[in-house]
Amino acid sequence: MPLTADLMTLGSRIRHHRTERGLTLDQLGEMVGQAGSQLSLIENGRREPKLSTLKEISAALGVELTDLLNGEPPNSRAALEIELARAQKNPLYATLGLPPVKVTKGMPTAALEAIVGLHRELARRASQAIATPEEARRANTELRELMRSRNNYMPDIEELAEERVRASGHVSGALTHREVSVMAEQLGFSLIYVNDLPHSTRSVTDLENGRIYLPPASIPGGHGLRSMALQAMAHRLLGHERPGSYAEFLWQRLQINYFAAACLMPREAAVSFLTEAKASRELAVEDFRDAFGVTHEAAALRFTNLATTHLDIPLHFLRVNGDGALQKGYENDGLPLPVDVTGSIEGQFVCKQWSARSAFTHTNRTTEFYQYTDTPAGTFWCATQTGATEAGEFSISVGVPFAQVKWFRGRETTQRAVSRCPDETCCRRPAGEVASRWAGKAWPSARLHAHVLSPLPSGTFPGVDDTEVYEFLEAHAAE
Ligand SMILES: [Zn+2]
Repeated sequence: MPLTADLMTLGSRIRHHRTERGLTLDQLGEMVGQAGSQLSLIENGRREPKLSTLKEISAALGVELTDLLNGEPPNSRAALEIELARAQKNPLYATLGLPPVKVTKGMPTAALEAIVGLHRELARRASQAIATPEEARRANTELRELMRSRNNYMPDIEELAEERVRASGHVSGALTHREVSVMAEQLGFSLIYVNDLPHSTRSVTDLENGRIYLPPASIPGGHGLRSMALQAMAHRLLGHERPGSYAEFLWQRLQINYFAAACLMPREAAVSFLTEAKASRELAVEDFRDAFGVTHEAAALRFTNLATTHLDIPLHFLRVNGDGALQKGYENDGLPLPVDVTGSIEGQFVCKQWSARSAFTHTNRTTEFYQYTDTPAGTFWCATQTGATEAGEFSISVGVPFAQVKWFRGRETTQRAVSRCPDETCCRRPAGEVASRWAGKAWPSARLHAHVLSPLPSGTFPGVDDTEVYEFLEAHAAE
């Protein structure tokens, strides 16, 4: 018999036995030396009785103490009452702004069943709407596998981007802010830069008045603003509807990012630039970046879109944090990326021997770092660039299998490393001598990564505060 009764169940069991014996609260109170009002608080689960009081109650009612402490509600009606009381205390119910229902003896059991049934359904739907970190990771992994099977290439979006860029009057080189504005105008939108964009958004589009609100430029001439404006337009051009699931939300985000990159580095111009570089065996992400005026990461990611389909080069891309954790990754060249049991790579630590990590100690953030790495899956060559944000250091790597290195600048490097990962003795387990010296003597306190525990908020758009967005639009609509 489990002695796990919570106060509500305990109170319910006391009431059950009291009414079965035809006793009023006051009558039982007299028998155990308590005021009836005190007993009422105990029966309603609002006061924890002392063990001595409990013993007197069980003696007065002629039941075993263990019977009172049994964790089961005394009957099905009491079970419903307890469930309702709990549901009404749940913050989920409070969000509805409805009054709590007070259960009386006269309330039909059918009414109680109906209300409890609605509470159960409310809880079920609420938990379904929340994308847990696990669901988010699963959706993310599926998407990465899909893109790998397509060599990270989306021909439809390539076409669309080229068409829009051509229509803006753009001829060659970097896409300008002016040309991006023209693209927006052609879609019936004006770009407006504001200082009070809702915190949970990167841009807000006012469909009624044809406006795209963007944050002010943090770096004049930086490609961030053009990219954000293009992403906002992509939602319209691709006919996106409000995402029905987290997977759909991720898919839309991938598409808009792809569209923006395909506008900033249009296929025809980009492929011709890269083909020439390949022919002269001078392929380098940094040149590609500089030719189109984008960040190193944007250029590296765009290179993964085009390299396999247009240059016949399988490759990998890694964005790794200063602590070695993989933030973003892609490969279709067989590089053994670290994975967890679900197949997810984000947050996994890459091998300490890889260029993505060794570059932190080698580069000065102006030049690329080159390295050959022997892995159980063959030899790879990588070009890594490091950088820093407020959140810390990071590295961006693009690499290829040994057979493809002949097309790249930096192939003459003498930097070599051997990686045996995922074999843990490679770099994940401390070496024997050091391990035996410190085993049992070290007590590190882990830094908690907030995102590991926080579920993604459920709104109509994951992560977005709708109220904030509507208030923002309301404030600006009149301008
Ligand atoms: Zn390793």
